[in-house]
Amino acid sequence: MRQKLVAGNWKMHGNSQSIRELLAALTPAVAESAAEIAVIPPLVYVPLCVDLLAGSKLSIGAQTVSEQCDPGAYTGEVSAEMLADSGCHYVLVGHSERRSLYGENDALVAAKTEAALNAKVLPIVCVGETREQREAGETLKVVGRQLDVVLATLKSEHEKITVAYEPVWAIGTGLTATPEQAQEVHAFIRTQLAAHSAELADTVRILYGGSVKAANAAELFAQPDIDGGLVGGASLDAEEFAAICNAIG
Ligand code: PEP
Repeated sequence: MRQKLVAGNWKMHGNSQSIRELLAALTPAVAESAAEIAVIPPLVYVPLCVDLLAGSKLSIGAQTVSEQCDPGAYTGEVSAEMLADSGCHYVLVGHSERRSLYGENDALVAAKTEAALNAKVLPIVCVGETREQREAGETLKVVGRQLDVVLATLKSEHEKITVAYEPVWAIGTGLTATPEQAQEVHAFIRTQLAAHSAELADTVRILYGGSVKAANAAELFAQPDIDGGLVGGASLDAEEFAAICNAIG
């Protein structure tokens, strides 16, 4: 049985005051949630979150990681070992904003996934199609390719990844994939994992992301291949994010 996961990607939002307020409201509101819950703050606020979340059920993730494993002259980069050392349990790789704004391609996403696993930080591998690709009927081809590169690059520990299906046209737009649209792609991803091994298909969690809100979370999470959510905008509002976490049955 896969433990459902809801992760809140704060992107480049917040400050120490707003984070204190958000977590003070969120922590008690999700104490009874059946989901595993993670918050993914901007990197500089990870230590503050570690402090504020000590003893709670929430874990912490980072929004990106260097593909470089060894220390060296990589100005501005942060290694997976540093993330682990700072208290990060998860890291996002391949978020569509990293792919589109910072030119991260499938090979780099795969290298980052491998670097995370080497340091025992669990990667959440984001995949998803643009609106143009969906309209051209290329959704499964695009998602399949993005995931294939990761699966083919990893030499071991495939079962430690989490996949997040995030249609690019649904991220931050208020447009959500219908539960049927999301389930279709999740089922496809599950089949792709099964081609690797039946155990992998059973173990790996597949999250849905793209304008998840309290109003649509329960219906999305009820789909058989949706194992939780990756939530952007709505994770900045404690009440809304708690309602999403509590929508896990
Ligand atoms: C995201 O950033 O991963 C995301 C899904 O954003 P939003 O929920 O705002 O669409």
